Amino acid sequence: MIVSYFRLLIMAAFFSFSCSSKPQQPKLVITLVVDQFRPDLLTRFDDLYTGGFRWLIDHGIWFTNTHHEHSYTATGPGHFAIGSGQYPGPAGIIGNSFYDRDLKKKVNCVEDPTAKVVGADKGEARSYSRYNTTGLGDWVKATYPKSKVISLGGKDRTAVFLGGKNPDLVLYFNYAGSFISSDYYVDSLPDWTDEFNASINAESYKDSLWTKSLSDDVYLKYAREDFYHGELDDYLTEEYSPVFPIGIDPKEDPKEFLMARPWFEREILKLAQSAITNEKLGQDKSPDLLFIGFSAMDWMIHDFGPHSQEIMDAFIKLDKYLGNFIEFVDKVVGLDQVEFVLTGDHGGLPLPEYVVEQGGTGGRINREHLKEAFEWIDEEIEERFGKDLYVRSGGNYFLNLEKMKKANINPKKIYNVVDKYLPKVEGIERIIYKEDILKSTASDKITTRLKHMIHSHKTPEIFPIVTPGYLYKNPYGTGHGSPYDYDTHVPLIFARAHFQSKTMNEAQATVDIAPTIAKIIGVKIPEFCDGKPIEF
Ligand SMILES: [Zn+2]
Repeated sequence: MIVSYFRLLIMAAFFSFSCSSKPQQPKLVITLVVDQFRPDLLTRFDDLYTGGFRWLIDHGIWFTNTHHEHSYTATGPGHFAIGSGQYPGPAGIIGNSFYDRDLKKKVNCVEDPTAKVVGADKGEARSYSRYNTTGLGDWVKATYPKSKVISLGGKDRTAVFLGGKNPDLVLYFNYAGSFISSDYYVDSLPDWTDEFNASINAESYKDSLWTKSLSDDVYLKYAREDFYHGELDDYLTEEYSPVFPIGIDPKEDPKEFLMARPWFEREILKLAQSAITNEKLGQDKSPDLLFIGFSAMDWMIHDFGPHSQEIMDAFIKLDKYLGNFIEFVDKVVGLDQVEFVLTGDHGGLPLPEYVVEQGGTGGRINREHLKEAFEWIDEEIEERFGKDLYVRSGGNYFLNLEKMKKANINPKKIYNVVDKYLPKVEGIERIIYKEDILKSTASDKITTRLKHMIHSHKTPEIFPIVTPGYLYKNPYGTGHGSPYDYDTHVPLIFARAHFQSKTMNEAQATVDIAPTIAKIIGVKIPEFCDGKPIEF
């Protein structure tokens, strides 16, 4: 009863905004990207949303059949697709971190060895410098030089890839209590960011307990039981008990664990409010872009799975935080001046134990079996063809093609050895050969997604894909990364105060988001953009 009363009040308040609005080109586009955002995290709790998700759904055009059309569904590639309108593979974003065959070492996708951290003593300096392309923010600035582009994320790759090549400001968490940037972007942080950092006081969260926002019976109705085998328990771990309340283990650093709890998303929205106020976003004729990446959600979903009471609660809390944020935007900018976009960087698999309980197939890939398969492959290749013919990173084989050519070894012979052993491991579906995918004319969705993930030089020659329902994470938690729909399917909502809520079922791709926003604000879409504007 109380819930529905408040919902009515909030709807009445929002209704008054929508009546006074007139359709016009927005002065501010706020793109909200939730990390590991399956669409059912909106639909399953729809009845319970009274805040920001409520407003976005009630004023949104919801494209219910939106997918990331690339195969390695990870955070870096996903945010790149959203921010740039391009498929990640050909642009060189082949993972969050990956072996770079030219540098002969593993690199982070937003690594910048020449950059320095700005804003704190700790953290990594990140940037877009590894990539030669541009994103939505750059296209907007080409049309409107006075437009401001600000990108905020918990994770570095989130903020970097949403912002494009030359945004005004990129801020991300340093896992030590502060939001930082690099001197690729700015020489020093604006005063308002320093003030915000001084106010976080991450250390003070050390004895905070994560408790449920609603009564226990509501959680049992909308989620599974609280104690569920497969969820991670990293709090007071003497006895396995993955249940509320959840604190931060006294042995852990609360400054790092801030990003593993729902409060982190409240902090990033406070940071966004500060950006809007101090940078005067949406307050002149040049349209501004604000990107907000909710990275803590990914950490939490990895730990508990999307059907847990914990994740239900994290979404109930985010709904409330977003409601407050939208009210703030209305006061400062006016909702009739703002377009909101809501989406996710990838979906995710439910806990495999839950998949099986629901009648599906799935599981966790056995690490020992995988290790054995790698050893057999190494032994046979060395015995038959010689040493140092490849570098293996995870299950990815980067062949030394030059050396093989000199020794007159056909790469297919190496492929065959990998193929002989790796698919024997339960959960490894098959081996993919880069050259086959690049040559393929097949138009099925898995081949297409694989193609959009491949860089002709950077991508390994051979890599495995998992069987649907399986993941490498072991023994607790869940993940993402596959080319299957459960990992590619994300929500996509374009919301404005004067929009009537509706759902559209035509297939859309996340590379369409950037050109759609460009079109809404009258910005030219470059030829190299893979997406097309969605008409609505
Ligand atoms: Zn992610």
